[in-house]
Amino acid sequence: MNQILKTSYNLSMSKNESLVARSLQAVWHPCTQMKHHEQFPLTPIVRGEGVWLYDAEGKRYLDAVSSWWVNLFGHNHPQIKDAIKQQLDTLEHVMLAGFTHEPVVALSEQLAKLTGLGHAFYGSDGASATEIALKMSFHYWRNTGKPSKSKFISLQNSYHGETLGALGVTDVAIFKDTYAPLLLQSAQMPSPDFRLAEAGESAEQFAQRCANALETYIAAHHDELAAFIVEPLVQCAAGMGMYHPIYLTRAREICTQYQVHLIADEIAVGFGRTGKMFACEHAAKQVSDIADFVCLSKGITGGYLPLSVVLTTNDIYQAFYDDKTVKGFLHSHSYTGNPLACSAALATLSLFEQTPVLQENLKTSRYLQEKMQALTLLPIRHMRHQGMIHAFDVQSSNPQFSRDCYAAGLTHGLLLRPIGNTVYWMPPYVMSAEEMDWLVDQTALVVQQSL
Ligand SMILES: *Cc1c(COP(=O)(O)O)cnc(C)c1O
Repeated sequence: MNQILKTSYNLSMSKNESLVARSLQAVWHPCTQMKHHEQFPLTPIVRGEGVWLYDAEGKRYLDAVSSWWVNLFGHNHPQIKDAIKQQLDTLEHVMLAGFTHEPVVALSEQLAKLTGLGHAFYGSDGASATEIALKMSFHYWRNTGKPSKSKFISLQNSYHGETLGALGVTDVAIFKDTYAPLLLQSAQMPSPDFRLAEAGESAEQFAQRCANALETYIAAHHDELAAFIVEPLVQCAAGMGMYHPIYLTRAREICTQYQVHLIADEIAVGFGRTGKMFACEHAAKQVSDIADFVCLSKGITGGYLPLSVVLTTNDIYQAFYDDKTVKGFLHSHSYTGNPLACSAALATLSLFEQTPVLQENLKTSRYLQEKMQALTLLPIRHMRHQGMIHAFDVQSSNPQFSRDCYAAGLTHGLLLRPIGNTVYWMPPYVMSAEEMDWLVDQTALVVQQSL
């Protein structure tokens, strides 16, 4: 008997069952066909600790996807928790128009130092950071007397969020097609995702070929282009599509030559995920050598509170600085620069300062790379990794592979969320060797069961 029926018959339910039943009645869950939950149960979580999530009966799940790519240092981290608690005793929130506070100033200063981009504009989630960058770029060209530069381009299979503006530069059919009549038109450039290369072509050769195509397009259309938005190094939502950093170097050169902004969407890959603090650093010394705008969110608070930021150059900032109100950037969100979220972000940054996180991650990543060789016994291809992202594509005739694999994982206490036939690990940076061994063994088992 399903849980909704049990509630209506008032039969006795476990704590888990009752939480799930109430959720299915009251909560409309994201990215979900709710009817699938008739067959496939929701997973109720009551607490987290390190890489583990626990349900009401004490069953635990290894969070191999960092709760949608946001968690960096594990659940229930004492230092991040303490920072938020301390801030809570001082100031929970104040509007950021006309007012300021220490956490937002300190965070902006630190992010400026880390990226080389000195002006920080805040939002609350990734999609709103994309919106902010697109609007700022468009507005910059109006303010500087080039209003015809009003269009955006992105990569094939790109993902930049799901509000209408962000969806306009996103290229994932299942999220986009239904809403197509509502969206901005934008052109998609060939993706340098190495899985799309010709046989015998190296990652670098393929990236160069894609950059040549970008150059041809921009050379012909730059008069009407405001910006090129790109996910540096890894197109995560496309199924962890990885590419050679030369593409970013070339894209920067082309954008500079033709006066088109480059927006680096580091929402998923920022804060150490790809092996450097920011993915752009694989192509240049710092983010500002590649990007006119960088969008950050997800890991910025260690996965504790919603926060996003767009950082940009002094040149762009100055184009808005004027006696006329309408030349200013009049965009706002109620919770812009929320002090609690900023304090979580500051605590997260201080963890990067206190411990050699990137070096430790290198060791973790190497260990996983070695271990994952055992998976080559399965029908898989494109085994790949970039920092703390490891992925492979499963060759399976099961049209429901991703759902079956997700379900089998949960049965075994493993939170995997394959994207199509791509299985990936994007875990918190704090896995022990035993946990990694367990992760690899269970993944092999679960994939085998879902083929
Ligand atoms: C998750 C993501 C977004 C959107 O962030 P939300 O907080 O989910 O709105 C945008 N771009 C990239 C690259 C992402 O991974």
